Amino acid sequence: MIARTLRRGLVVASAVVLAASCSSDVPRHSERLYAFGTFIELTAYGLDETAFAEAAEQTGQRLEDWHRQWHPWEGDGLAAINRRLAEGRATAIEPDLGGLIDRARELEAASEGHFNGGLGALTRLWGFHAGADLPDAPPPEEAIAALTDPAPSLAAVRRDEVRIHSTDPRVRIDFGGFAKGVAAERITALLRRRGAGAAVVSLGGDIATHGRPPGRDWRIGIRAPRGEGLLATARLQAGEAIFTSGDYERYFTHGGRRYHHILDPRTGRPARGVRSVTVIDDDPARADAAATALFVAGPGQWQAVARSMGIRYVLLMDAHGRAHLSAAMAERLRFEAEPEPEVAEEVAL
Ligand code: ADP
Ligand code: MG
Repeated sequence: MIARTLRRGLVVASAVVLAASCSSDVPRHSERLYAFGTFIELTAYGLDETAFAEAAEQTGQRLEDWHRQWHPWEGDGLAAINRRLAEGRATAIEPDLGGLIDRARELEAASEGHFNGGLGALTRLWGFHAGADLPDAPPPEEAIAALTDPAPSLAAVRRDEVRIHSTDPRVRIDFGGFAKGVAAERITALLRRRGAGAAVVSLGGDIATHGRPPGRDWRIGIRAPRGEGLLATARLQAGEAIFTSGDYERYFTHGGRRYHHILDPRTGRPARGVRSVTVIDDDPARADAAATALFVAGPGQWQAVARSMGIRYVLLMDAHGRAHLSAAMAERLRFEAEPEPEVAEEVAL
């Protein structure tokens, strides 16, 4: 029934939490916020109304702080660091931002550079950064060439307790590929600390959980990358997250081609060959970075990158509409689209 309603066109985000049908005595509250240019939906089990309202308010404040701190071009957090990197100078850094940079650098290394947290200048060149109006044509060849071969990357960034600098002056730090994962992880932790027995947060269709609802697993609907319907439903166990990167999230078309916001650091252009990648993992930040990295890796290489990142649950929809998935993911998933997508490969990771 729910799937049918969704198939009629209610799915707007990459994935949705499907409502519980069972009744239980555990109180359940939900709230919708807006941040990072997207809707954020919180649901918590086991908090009374006042405790939930306070938790939701604190979440809203945190989201505003993170937005200010993590914006690559505006404000005095990451933006200030990026300005100093552009001048080729070392700069003081707050511990929280420093920790995030370390984490992004580790994810970059584990992904063999397919996730690249230092390619902010490319994102900006293409006009895909948050808050900007999308352009109507790709940038000039020479400008792309200057930022590839090799692309700037966090491998060039060094830091000690208090200062950071880059040996490559082209590096601009961009948390866009994993910020939602970090935010989701912090929000579920906040709800847990405030006493929720279970909670789920969706940031524009990227979903993290704490615990599980009374007596069942989480059920998630995954959007079809073309059209409006549901591609599949998936089950999440306690504490798991599900993240999707899609070519339909932020794009423009030019000369009949789609140019989307997930950039291949090797070419400096939108990664080709994939429509969407969905990853389940118990670490939301890693799930987010991996969805981006496996999208870039594409049909031939996603398996190797998934292994090196330690990711077990993957669904990749290629440019022909075929499904590539891990055997573990196949067990979690039921295709809902009609006709069902052709499965190109099912791989043991
Ligand atoms: P979304 O945030 O829309 O769910 P992603 O998680 O894939 O999608 O993040 C896309 C964003 O990540 C881009 O807007 C850009 O800021 C940044 N980005 C683009 N390409 C890469 C890449 N190869 N590695 C890391 N970050 C990237
Ligand atoms: Mg991502």
